[in-house]
Amino acid sequence: MTHATPRPTAVSRLVERLIRPEVRRLSAYHVPDPGDRVKLDAMENPYPWPGELADAWLETLRGLTVNRYPDPAATRLKARLRQAMGVPDGVDVLLGNGSDELIQLVLLALAGEGRKVLAPEPTFVMYRLLALAAGMEYVGMPLEPGGFSLDMPAMLEAIEREAPAVVFLAYPNNPTGNLFAPDEIRQILAASQGLVVVDEAYTPFAQASFLGEVAAYPNLLVMRTVSKMGLAGLRLGWLAGDPRWLEELNKLRLPYNINVLSQVSAEFALSHLDVLDAQTASIRAAREALFSALASLEGLTAWPSRANFILFRVAQRGVEVFESLKGKGVLVKCLHGSSPLLEDCLRVTVGTPDENRAFLSALRAVL
Ligand code: PMP
Repeated sequence: MTHATPRPTAVSRLVERLIRPEVRRLSAYHVPDPGDRVKLDAMENPYPWPGELADAWLETLRGLTVNRYPDPAATRLKARLRQAMGVPDGVDVLLGNGSDELIQLVLLALAGEGRKVLAPEPTFVMYRLLALAAGMEYVGMPLEPGGFSLDMPAMLEAIEREAPAVVFLAYPNNPTGNLFAPDEIRQILAASQGLVVVDEAYTPFAQASFLGEVAAYPNLLVMRTVSKMGLAGLRLGWLAGDPRWLEELNKLRLPYNINVLSQVSAEFALSHLDVLDAQTASIRAAREALFSALASLEGLTAWPSRANFILFRVAQRGVEVFESLKGKGVLVKCLHGSSPLLEDCLRVTVGTPDENRAFLSALRAVL
């Protein structure tokens, strides 16, 4: 029996009929090809591991087999992670293939007729994308235009009016880099009938956390990732919360979501946290130097950051400067057009001192 290949028009009609309209309206998360440019667009830690450590890691992998499925509960990794990150007793941990997957899991569990997701804007784009993909309504609440702090009266009013099933707060926020006031987050926790996910992806650079407060609020989940501390390639995020929340979310987790290479590699890396901690400390120092250099440039506004990136604006020239930097071999993130508050804004990830110098000299030449 032969199957006729559907003509493109027939495919289009099928796609249109079967793919949900809210999915068709989305745009895929875009990741540009950096080529051989200095890559300062994705908040990665720029430092690879020292040679002996890389050798020891490869030695650990030597004993692995890939014919069997990984441990579905990632028991050893979880124990190492709890210990390394100081997860309090009584708080459970759920692992995700990156924290992206955990955002999706939370939304999948909460989605339903009339369910809403609320977040300040601008913030991490995946909250909105995954909320819409889950068929939920997304409510974005503008931050204060000056310093990107929470507009508390508007937030509290919206939480009462919209009764969101979940509020996402990135702490520090991406792409603005600031930490929201902890007491305002506590007010939001107290005012919310729904869940509040405090997304602490950039904690290694902010050294501030709500992990110790999970037990104090029945509706608080704290989300973390190992990506920004230097393990972005492993894809490992974790969610800390009351066991009763995580038990439900765990039902939706795909059985083997953390592959065997990631489990063993992350366990190894977390046993050498001192190396990663030293790297994040030098990134924090480089951030301050980069901020001072940016702040001293004429025609440019830079915002102080508690993360490993800096947001800056070049009035009237955002896109032009982005393209020129690209032409000079430096890739940053262009945020112009993504939010009314980010007109002419670019975001640069803090790199090695050499990379930061290359960026600054390209930027000075462009300006
Ligand atoms: N949360 C925030 C605030 C982020 O900026 C990012 C990555 N850009 C993530 C979560 C996703 O991180 P992961 O690599 O763990 O999926």
